[in-house]
Amino acid sequence: MVRITIEREECTSCALCWETCPEVFEENPDDTLSQIVEEYRRGGDPAEGEVSDDMEDCVRDAAEGCPVEIIRLS
Ligand code: SF4
Repeated sequence: MVRITIEREECTSCALCWETCPEVFEENPDDTLSQIVEEYRRGGDPAEGEVSDDMEDCVRDAAEGCPVEIIRLS
């Protein structure tokens, strides 16, 4: 499993993560910041997610592309 954390307060809403990996990331309709899609959230927190290893490439591409480097994987 791959755990994901988005430091949402630092997000610039550049859209790169949800364009790169829309299966996992999306724009929050209220604050326009990136969040984890509901299916993959942990504890109902839009900033915390967990996906299976077969989705790692997609998530990693998004994390590496984030211009402010606020998507963390573990
Ligand atoms: S790539 Fe980074 S800055 Fe851009 S929307 Fe996603 S989390 Fe926010």
